[in-house]
Amino acid sequence: MAKIADILAQGQRSVSFEFFPPKTDEAQAMLEQTIVDLEPLHPSYVSVTYGAGGSTRDRTHEVVVGINRDTSMTAMAHLTCAAHTRAQMIEVVTSYRDAGIENLLALAGDPPKDLDLPPGEFSYAIDLVRLIRDVGDFSIGVAAHPEPHPRSPSIQADREHTADKLREADFAITQFFFEARHYFDLVESLQALGVDKPVLPGIMPVQSIAGIKRMTEMQGSEFPAWLSEKLHAVEDDPDAVRAVGIQEATNLCRELLDGGAPGLHFYTLNRSTATREIHSNLGL
Ligand SMILES: Cc1cc2nc3c(=O)[nH]c(=O)nc-3n(C[C@H](O)[C@H](O)[C@H](O)COP(=O)(O)OP(=O)(O)OC[C@H]3O[C@@H](n4cnc5c(N)ncnc54)[C@H](O)[C@@H]3O)c2cc1C
Repeated sequence: MAKIADILAQGQRSVSFEFFPPKTDEAQAMLEQTIVDLEPLHPSYVSVTYGAGGSTRDRTHEVVVGINRDTSMTAMAHLTCAAHTRAQMIEVVTSYRDAGIENLLALAGDPPKDLDLPPGEFSYAIDLVRLIRDVGDFSIGVAAHPEPHPRSPSIQADREHTADKLREADFAITQFFFEARHYFDLVESLQALGVDKPVLPGIMPVQSIAGIKRMTEMQGSEFPAWLSEKLHAVEDDPDAVRAVGIQEATNLCRELLDGGAPGLHFYTLNRSTATREIHSNLGL
């Protein structure tokens, strides 16, 4: 195991994979196979999401501890603070510390409204970064939003909040996006605010038109017309849709790396094919 901040400080471009904790035996088997398929790519680290409000608290813990124990990979746990009390959050962070986990991604989270959870004691992810620093010696990542977060009143306000948060954390991973200019604009804005910690672009290869539309609407980001047209031109052929998704994600990764991005973070959705193809296309 290692601290992600130390891995990033070595200066090589990082490649990381994101998983989510499975809910069923079938989904568990799929994740296990994906881990077997992706481990030979020697990712710099992998990460495991956390259900906002705490719905996957134990499962996220199990998957992260299992990857660190049973594979050669370093796993980071995501943690969201919305709808949690300080006491609950201290308990969760302490349980990771006691299990020897050194890397946490500190997030606000958006608990589903139908769960009707109490608001909790945290307003923003930066409060969780501070709590984690108090509990242990962790390497801490945070989220960054190339297209501003939907709750932000303005792009400048969002950039300033992200800069404040990143000053106290070690690195950021971005929400996914389809135009490299959004990422470069974020990085330039943070640098203008005096923050030059690593910002790793999040890559989401399109695997289905309906799926990507749902996700872009949820996070309030742009689904560019040129990409929509290319995908709709082959919409009756799911394999062709995936091929377009992989080609466009490869192009985006090239542009990001050529422009100086310090690494790539792949949203795998617990599948390995698209990630392996892009990895191979890039000759990483
Ligand atoms: C890489 C990545 C991984 C993710 N993993 C998960 C996951 O595992 N589980 C999950 O539920 N969600 C996850 N998310 C989604 C994330 O929880 C949501 O996008 C959430 O709405 C925002 O989280 P944040 O940590 O960026 O919030 P924050 O940093 O708290 O920001 C939220 C909003 O508040 C604003 N803000 C921040 N500080 C202030 C302030 N002081 N005053 C006023 N406004 C402020 C920000 O500009 C922004 O609009 C992930 C997102 C990313 C990019």
